[in-house]
Amino acid sequence: MSTHLSADLLARYDRPGPRYTSYPTAPVWSEAFGPREYAARLAAAGQRPQDPLSLYVHVPYCASMCWYCACSVVIAKDRDKGDHYVDTLLEEARLVRAHLGAERMVVQHHWGGGTPTFLRPEAIRRLFEGLGRLFPLAPGAEVSVEVDPRVTTREHLVALAESGCNRISMGVQDFDPTVQEAIHRHQPYETTRQLIAWARELGFASVNLDLVYGLPHQTANGFARSLEQVHQLGPDRIACYGYAHVPWLKKHQRLIDEQALPRGADKLALYRLALDFFADRDYEPIGMDHFARPGDELAVAARSGRLHRNFMGYTTRAADEMLAFGVTAIGEVDGAFAQNVKEVAEWREMLARGELPVHRGHRRSSDDDARRRIILDLMCRFRLRFADHGGRVAFAERYGDALERLRPMVDDGLAAIDAEGITVTPVGRLLVRNLAMAFDAYLEPRAASQPRFSRTV
Ligand code: SF4
Repeated sequence: MSTHLSADLLARYDRPGPRYTSYPTAPVWSEAFGPREYAARLAAAGQRPQDPLSLYVHVPYCASMCWYCACSVVIAKDRDKGDHYVDTLLEEARLVRAHLGAERMVVQHHWGGGTPTFLRPEAIRRLFEGLGRLFPLAPGAEVSVEVDPRVTTREHLVALAESGCNRISMGVQDFDPTVQEAIHRHQPYETTRQLIAWARELGFASVNLDLVYGLPHQTANGFARSLEQVHQLGPDRIACYGYAHVPWLKKHQRLIDEQALPRGADKLALYRLALDFFADRDYEPIGMDHFARPGDELAVAARSGRLHRNFMGYTTRAADEMLAFGVTAIGEVDGAFAQNVKEVAEWREMLARGELPVHRGHRRSSDDDARRRIILDLMCRFRLRFADHGGRVAFAERYGDALERLRPMVDDGLAAIDAEGITVTPVGRLLVRNLAMAFDAYLEPRAASQPRFSRTV
C-alpha cells in the first residue's frame, strides 16, 4: 500500500483542521443550548425505553500535569477530592435518570479523564454500583476504563474487574526517556508491563495502549524502539495519535520546546513507521489512528462497516445515545450534543440547585445529520457510496460545492470518484481530515480566521 506523500502535497495539506470526533464540531455549539434544552432531549429519549444506551464518566483529576496533554484536567494530590467527586457524580446520575423517566439498558460504559484511577478502589466500587442501580448493564456490555500506569495499583484493577470492567486502556505515549523528560511524564517500561500482567491475570478481555507521535525529541530510531517495546507487551489494540500542539488553547503546552517538535514530513514519517510496524505484525489499521488484532471487536467492526467515531475516537457503534457525567463531559441524546460546565465548583452548585449542569450544546439539523454520515463514511470506512446518500444525482446536486473542493484533492491522488462513490486512497488516508473538511458546512470562513484546530498532519 503506497503512502508516499511528496513534500509539495504535505506543504499544501498540513493545515489546521478538526479531528471530527463529532459533527458539527464543538466550536459550533452554543450556550443557547442549556439545561432546559437538555432536559427536553432527555425526556424525548425516555420515550424509547427499548433502545440501548452508552454511558461516559469523566474524572478530571490527575496527580501531575503531562505537558502535551489536551484533556480537561484538574491537578490534585488529595484523594478525598475523588470521594467527594463520586458523591456529586451519583447526584448528577440520579438527576439525569429522573429526567429520562425510564429505564434503558447500558451496552457500553466508559470512564475517561483525567485519571479515573485517581479514585480510591472503594470509590470506584461505589460509583460502579451506584450507576449500575440507575442504569443497569445489559448482558455482555462493554465496560472500559482509562488508567494511568503510574498511579494504578493491583487493588484498583481488582475493584474494576469486580465491578464488571472488562476492557482497559492505558497511556504510554513513548518509552524513550528523553521524550518522557520533555513531556513531563516519567513512566518506566516495567510499570506498564506489571500493570498489563495484572490485567491479564484478572481476566480483562482487552488491553489498549495509547501512543503519541510528533512529541518533542521523538526520532525515528527512538520511536522504533518504543514500538518494539509496545509489541512485546502484546496489547489487543493500539491507538497512535498525532500530537496536537495547541498552546493557544492549552497553556501548559507552552512548556514544550517547540524547536524540538518533529513537524511536517518528520512527524508523518513517525506515523508511517507505526503503520508499517504494526501491519508487519498482524495488527489491522483501523481508521485514521488505531490498530487492532484481527480478532478484536474493533477490527471486526471495521471489516463489516460498523466502525463509528465519537468523542472517544474510533469505537464499535453499540448505541446511538450517550449519557455523560462529570465536568466537561459530552453526551449525545436525541439528536443533540450537550457538554457539561468546566469547573468542578460550578458543576456542584448547579446540581445542588437541581439543575442539569450543561454549559453548551447543539441540536443537529437534518443537514447536520446528512453531512455527519458522509464524514463518518470517509473517516471510518474510507469509502462513500452515493447510494447510501440519496443516489449520485441527488448527491451531486446537494453537495456540488463540496465536490468542487474535493476536485484538487482528487487531482492530487488523495481520493477517487467514480459512478458509485468516493474512495479514499492509501495516501489520502493520511490526510483524511482534509477530505472530511470539504463537507463541513461550518468551516468557512471560520477556520481561516480562528486558530482553533490542530494541524491535520
Ligand atoms: S495523565 Fe493523561 S489526562 Fe492526566 S495530565 Fe497526563 S495525559 Fe493528561
